[in-house]
Amino acid sequence: MSPPPEDMYRVKKKTHIPPSTSSQTLLRTPTKQKNRIPPTPHRESVDAFWSQEETVAWIDQHSPEKPLGQTVIELLQDFDDSDTDGTGRDSTSSAEPGSTPPVMQKQPKTPSKTALKKAEVEKNKAAKARRLSFNNKKDDFAQAFLTVLDDAVAEGKVCQLAVATGGVKITWSKTLQKTAGRAQWKGERFRDREGRVNTKHHASIELAERIIDDEYRLINTLAHEYCHLANYMISNVRDQPHGASFKQWGLRCKEALKDHPVYGGRINVTTKHTYKIDYKYVWSCVGCSQTYGRHSKSIDPNRSRCGNPSCNGRLEQIKPKPRNVSPKKNAATPATQRNVMDNVAKELGGFTL
Ligand SMILES: [Zn+2]
Ligand SMILES: [Zn+2]
Repeated sequence: MSPPPEDMYRVKKKTHIPPSTSSQTLLRTPTKQKNRIPPTPHRESVDAFWSQEETVAWIDQHSPEKPLGQTVIELLQDFDDSDTDGTGRDSTSSAEPGSTPPVMQKQPKTPSKTALKKAEVEKNKAAKARRLSFNNKKDDFAQAFLTVLDDAVAEGKVCQLAVATGGVKITWSKTLQKTAGRAQWKGERFRDREGRVNTKHHASIELAERIIDDEYRLINTLAHEYCHLANYMISNVRDQPHGASFKQWGLRCKEALKDHPVYGGRINVTTKHTYKIDYKYVWSCVGCSQTYGRHSKSIDPNRSRCGNPSCNGRLEQIKPKPRNVSPKKNAATPATQRNVMDNVAKELGGFTL
């Protein structure tokens, strides 16, 4: 008997405003207006000078409201709806909307385009180097951590039980997108030479490549999935995946390694996690700063609006930073593309493990 895999995907509700029948005739040609955006009030020595959000907010504050080319607007909602037990987001949540920028003071200096670009390039370079370094060591790191954790928490029992089947397998998944990890266990019964019934343990942990991009996430996702395995294999708890027994294992993990030189103080097994996913494309609401991330360029700001109730703000792409978008390109999208939006994949910013 094997239990179903943990951590089923959750489906988000979709909000659609039906297209108006007159949408075709209402398309307006964008007018080319000269619009002067005043220089940033920040000095180069201030962080805000280099901040993309600050820059975007400033430009937006001084830009004229663009007419909507389409009447078909999709309301986007990227809230964390994984919090079903009403405990609120846990402290590891990093998907909060950014805070509103402070009131700007007058200050004449403008960041030169090359300086901004250089800063951006440097930032991307550093991020890429970090990712590469993490990717190179993550397999060994994961294996080492699991061994240390199991030794400290259960005297190595989880790994021992799985020895006959090649140990606890740790794999990286490209397709796992809405949950950071998944533990799978299967008990195979067999008779040994003496005729006694025995169990062969097949245990594996799958990790989401796109979500786990640093040590903190790796440690905590592995610890969480380890607790599932310990729960199945040692405690023999096969129902209530995140019940009292699971939570006890979680506390043991935290306690057992609290003085460890590498992992000490870094373990916190929760039943809900919200990790900010490093999306390739990110849009931000100009009204409430809620961000919407996608792995592909599937949001069209001309057709989609912020889904925050009482906001309905305009969306602007903030990652990658759009370069020299001509007003023509920015204007109304051909009606032929409309059905594409009906298929926009809803992706969660948060997920349960
Ligand atoms: Zn909004
Ligand atoms: Zn879980």
